[in-house]
Amino acid sequence: MEMRELVCGVVDRYRYIRRPEMRLVLRVQDEILSALRDFLRGEGFIEILAPVIGPVTDPGIRGARQASIDYYGHGFKLMSSMILYKQMALLSVDRVFALSPNIRLEPEESVRTGRHLAEFRQVDVEMAHATYHDAMNLGERMVAYVLGRVSRACSGELEALGRELRPPRTPFERISYGEALEILRSEGFRVEYGVEIPWDAEEAISSMFDSPFWIYDYPMTARGFYDREDPERPGILRDFDLIYPEGFGEGVSGGEREYQAERVLERMRMRGEDPRDYGWYIEMLKEGVPPSAGFGIGVERLTRYICGLRCIWDAVPFPKVPGIPSP
Ligand code: AMP
Ligand code: MG
Repeated sequence: MEMRELVCGVVDRYRYIRRPEMRLVLRVQDEILSALRDFLRGEGFIEILAPVIGPVTDPGIRGARQASIDYYGHGFKLMSSMILYKQMALLSVDRVFALSPNIRLEPEESVRTGRHLAEFRQVDVEMAHATYHDAMNLGERMVAYVLGRVSRACSGELEALGRELRPPRTPFERISYGEALEILRSEGFRVEYGVEIPWDAEEAISSMFDSPFWIYDYPMTARGFYDREDPERPGILRDFDLIYPEGFGEGVSGGEREYQAERVLERMRMRGEDPRDYGWYIEMLKEGVPPSAGFGIGVERLTRYICGLRCIWDAVPFPKVPGIPSP
């Protein structure tokens, strides 16, 4: 598809936003947000306010660049995710979530995936003293709840959008990263062990399923320093992604967190990161934080999947598409 065609309705969003499709999507998105909040509150989570800027942010953003601002003479970052702050929040409350705005200057070629924005939001969830299986259990109940509720409350909107949504049953299928690679190889994809699953392969494996599924146990070389290495299985992380079916691709990432300062320092050294860049975070870990697990679910990707939209920029009122200046 021509790039111009692909991103139509973005640069002139003040026109596109008048269209009936947009109103339908916004109505569905409102229900999605209420459902996410209701579900998490029902599970004993407290909504906290997300940071927008800070001296450090998530470094594990897979090829995207961070954006910086001058904060009274200090270099601050716009949040690429609030992962490090979620661990701080657990020093106050055991179960937290936030609707967190994120900026990631994704590579321009990511536009072709239809899944990447430069500005997006996650509902970011974290719970103390939980395992990654606890987090997957919570995540799948949450996604099933949201899909069930939205398909009932917004049946008219979904029908008008031409979307037939089948709310999934729990538990979701769980396949390991190694199994995912085998599936992909049998379909002719060459994915080396140890790297992130490339975007085209992610879309391919997603197309093979008709219900959301988990990929877990990513190799350490594929992810940031905060995903916890399994003490019993060196090199394997206790982490996961949720993949939406029908080619919509990844919708959630999460896992258990490294929480001991020595472990984090070791992981930073392995990734060639300078712990001095992480000032308060390392100091906090040295004083002690609880072990935890959690995840982030992208709101726009969830909306795109539920509404069955062609591109992620049709799932947000004011899209920022990588490389394209727009309102
Ligand atoms: P990550 O920590 O990179 O796995 O991001 C967590 C979740 O945020 C992903 O599973 C997506 O749902 C969402 N997400 C990440 N990057 C983007 C992006 N560039 N545009 C839209 N959503 C994103
Ligand atoms: Mg991810």
